[in-house]
Amino acid sequence: MKNLLDFTKEELSDIIKPAFRAKQIYEWIYKKNVDSFDDMRNLPRDLRDYLKENFYFNPLKKVKEEVSQDGSKKYLFMLKDGKTIESVLLPMKGDEFDENGKLIKHARYTICVSSQVGCKMGCSFCLTAKGGFVRNLTPGEIVEQVHFIKKENKIPYERRVNIVYMGMGEPLNNLNNLAKAIKIFTDNDGLAISPRRQTVSTSGLSSQIVKLGNLNLGVLLAISLHAVNDELRQELMPVNKAYNIASIMEAVRKFPIDMRKRVMFEYLMMDGVNDSIKDAKTLVKLLDGIKAKVNLIYFNPHEGSIYKRPKPENMEKFRDFLQSKSVTCTIRESKGIDISAACGQLKERSKNDNS
Ligand code: SAH
Ligand code: SF4
Repeated sequence: MKNLLDFTKEELSDIIKPAFRAKQIYEWIYKKNVDSFDDMRNLPRDLRDYLKENFYFNPLKKVKEEVSQDGSKKYLFMLKDGKTIESVLLPMKGDEFDENGKLIKHARYTICVSSQVGCKMGCSFCLTAKGGFVRNLTPGEIVEQVHFIKKENKIPYERRVNIVYMGMGEPLNNLNNLAKAIKIFTDNDGLAISPRRQTVSTSGLSSQIVKLGNLNLGVLLAISLHAVNDELRQELMPVNKAYNIASIMEAVRKFPIDMRKRVMFEYLMMDGVNDSIKDAKTLVKLLDGIKAKVNLIYFNPHEGSIYKRPKPENMEKFRDFLQSKSVTCTIRESKGIDISAACGQLKERSKNDNS
């Protein structure tokens, strides 16, 4: 049995003839949210039987869901082989109404997806790293995280969502499947999510950043920087031994990006580790000439972690310094902090619960 969601529409139309059937199947799944092949009423019976015998399109089973006070929802999904991954729905803003109670702007959502079961990169602050690497996710396993969450939360088809590849795993270690997932997401008969709404986050595999750029998919890029000198970065992120900060910056400078957009630099703040003004000064120099925006993230402590949450005042000073040097910088609201929203943390808790 094959996962139908692993196929781009073009691939599907090579297998299923006539070719327009692929478009119909896409619409049934992604637009009309049907649960079975029998519901695909405009397909001939023999085709439905063939599909039933050879394909499935429900690669995820919800194992656990946690809702945070701020409205973010974290999902633990089980894959067909029993492995588990996490995804998070982050409402960025609720519906907005005018003074007469008329809806003027719909809620906006971001969905954070996983790209692998586990991760090879071994970052010292990250819980996902602790479990090691298990396997890559297939394109359909990536796509279904967004489809499932939209469907489950009754987010209307037309409501565009943003996708961030910031869940478990290093997306650029799974570039082929990632690229296919991006294409499937983008398809107008699928979820029709523009690549400009999709942000690939990487620990800084410079050669893979170049490859992603060469694919010209139109996606946005986020770099998990976390340190401004190689010595510290190497300690936090072993990948820095193979690809140092200079090589990342070079790759970023070459990355094709929409003129109106910026490359995001994520900076996970850890108390007394990387939160000084000296670090902020070096960061400003590093970003010279790059259209960047910096996102400061509160380190979310987990059991056994040696790092501590930064003091809010240090975070603010850091941000103010960057802004005084005209570097766009925001502090990421600690969404879902009460449900341990950083990657890997729900999975870990669930193991302890024995649930
Ligand atoms: N592997 C990719 C994408 C997944 S990690 C990457 O590293 O960019 C997504 C983000 O979660 C990274 O920026 C990472 O630094 C952050 N993260 C990991 N552990 C965290 C923790 N304990 N608290 C807060 N953020 C964390
Ligand atoms: Fe992997 Fe990203 Fe965690 Fe590092 S931070 S171990 S790259 S998931």
